[in-house]
Amino acid sequence: MTPLAARETWPQNKVLKGIPASPGIVIGPAHVVSDKYKVQINRYYLTSDKQIAVEIDRFRDAVALTREEISTIKKSITDEFQEHAYILDAHLLILQDKLLYDATIRTIQYERINAEWALQEAVHQAQILFSKIADPYIKSRIQDVEDVSQRVLRHLTGGNPFDFGKLTEPVILVIHDLSPVDTTQMSVAKVKGFITETGGKTSHTAIMAQSLEIPAVVAVEKASQEIATGYTLILDGLNGTVVINPDAKMLDIYVQRKKKFEEFKLDVGKSSFLPAITLDEHQTQVLANIEFQEEVDLALDYGADGIGLYRTEFLFLRHQRLPTEEELFEDYRSVAQMMRPKRVTIRTLDIGGDKFASHLEYAPGINPALGLRAIRFCLKERTIFRTQLRAILRASAYGQVRLMFPLISGIQEVTDARRILAEVQEELAREGHPFQPDMPVGLMIEVPSAVMLADLLAKEADFFSIGTNDLIQYALAIDRGNKHVANMYQPLHPAVLRMIKQVVDAGHAAGITVAVCGEMAGDPLYTPVLLGLGVDELSMNALAIPVVKRIVRHASMEEAQEFARHALQYGTVDEVNSYVTGIMAKRFPEVFMFGRELASAA
Ligand code: PEP
Ligand code: MG
Repeated sequence: MTPLAARETWPQNKVLKGIPASPGIVIGPAHVVSDKYKVQINRYYLTSDKQIAVEIDRFRDAVALTREEISTIKKSITDEFQEHAYILDAHLLILQDKLLYDATIRTIQYERINAEWALQEAVHQAQILFSKIADPYIKSRIQDVEDVSQRVLRHLTGGNPFDFGKLTEPVILVIHDLSPVDTTQMSVAKVKGFITETGGKTSHTAIMAQSLEIPAVVAVEKASQEIATGYTLILDGLNGTVVINPDAKMLDIYVQRKKKFEEFKLDVGKSSFLPAITLDEHQTQVLANIEFQEEVDLALDYGADGIGLYRTEFLFLRHQRLPTEEELFEDYRSVAQMMRPKRVTIRTLDIGGDKFASHLEYAPGINPALGLRAIRFCLKERTIFRTQLRAILRASAYGQVRLMFPLISGIQEVTDARRILAEVQEELAREGHPFQPDMPVGLMIEVPSAVMLADLLAKEADFFSIGTNDLIQYALAIDRGNKHVANMYQPLHPAVLRMIKQVVDAGHAAGITVAVCGEMAGDPLYTPVLLGLGVDELSMNALAIPVVKRIVRHASMEEAQEFARHALQYGTVDEVNSYVTGIMAKRFPEVFMFGRELASAA
């Protein structure tokens, strides 16, 4: 460690900005970690498609950094080493070789494991291949593959791990990069918060910090150069600010802010188990979205009124084979039993689009979002569909189960899906399996054609659930996974608001409830607008439930309706955004100050 400069020369009140990654405010001494630690790898499973996408991005970024690194080395080598430059060229080629690059990405996707482990597996496969080569020179080239992978691994892990056991007092850790695995090793007692120079809000590191409730700011450029061990830091994980060596006045501001935030958090926590009733006694439901059974506890802990969306792709993507009816049944039954008497809405398989499985044979095509996905896939692959329907129906005997079909685009799909459901019901009855004969059947409204047909579809359904993630994508022609158009992905787009209104009105005219289960439902900024548009239920990431419930309980239906009426009058996103933001800042300042960060943590 470089010796500290004299205290008088320390910077004071210097502010660094980064991305808020885990909410909370901490004040304490810095501990700067140099990045010269050896790479050590652990394995962990990815539990959502979002995580897989993040992991693939991490891998691609690490490869890009490695390429840059090698190119820089290549440029800097002196004449006498020029004859060895081909090694670096070879390394650049290896980086893009299928053996390493494609194999790693495939392994992340299909085995649902982290990039480090997937890369290690790819290297292992390469070692097996190379070991069979007779030519000793080519055989020994496996070393290059290993060297290049080490470089990529170093970029993936930031040259960690750091031995957390060495910390003797609670500190704010400052480190170039932190792998998710390192994050798991942080003892909350010793690491009060952390700052990294890399990373993003949705990285695994951030997600883990949130669940460990360790405040964090990531992507703070040059943090480890600007900060020295021993400096006092304020870390504001709510707005991504780091203050170096604050003076008494600055300290006071943050001590107050921390106090207010903690009071707010406590208050939010208290209301999470209360019913979501507005000031004028309008009852709504605030539910959780889950992707696998293990998330049920989290949903209950955060006060979910039920499961509004059980995405069932996980069991199909988890293995290299299709799950059996018994496996599915056991899983759905457990979820239904754990949630009883609250209800569980199980969505049938939405494979395709951004969710793939190697063992399900179909061509993804150039534009998978417009391809054979969700209900279209199930209506083609009838055996898979029937097996899942049997499992869901059988689980319905053990709790309040509802069924929901994704990506409906017209009446025919509903007719076909319902006919198959009726056949499966008959089959189960013949075999003597118990099930709920009047299990409610809902439709997900996430394609613009379904919005236009909402009045007709409502007659075929027991409820609607609007999947705004897809609806926004299809309505605005914005690929939901494409970061180049991410700024155009606007939930408050006037067209989106009108669509929601149209679906709600059609649903209500037919006497059925209308839920929203896309990410939009979990952003507290939108809660009053959605309520005002008449949405009956909101289903979201469990962490958002307490904040959203608090808003519902502090709002009146009358004001929400007025709010929505105004919002609907604007013609541009900017106008709607500034209207909604302005009202919310006035009406719910604390939610605006802290609530979004708390709710969007994951
Ligand atoms: C949606 O599209 O809003 C939705 C909830 O479904 P998914 O995100 O799984 O496509
Ligand atoms: Mg969807």
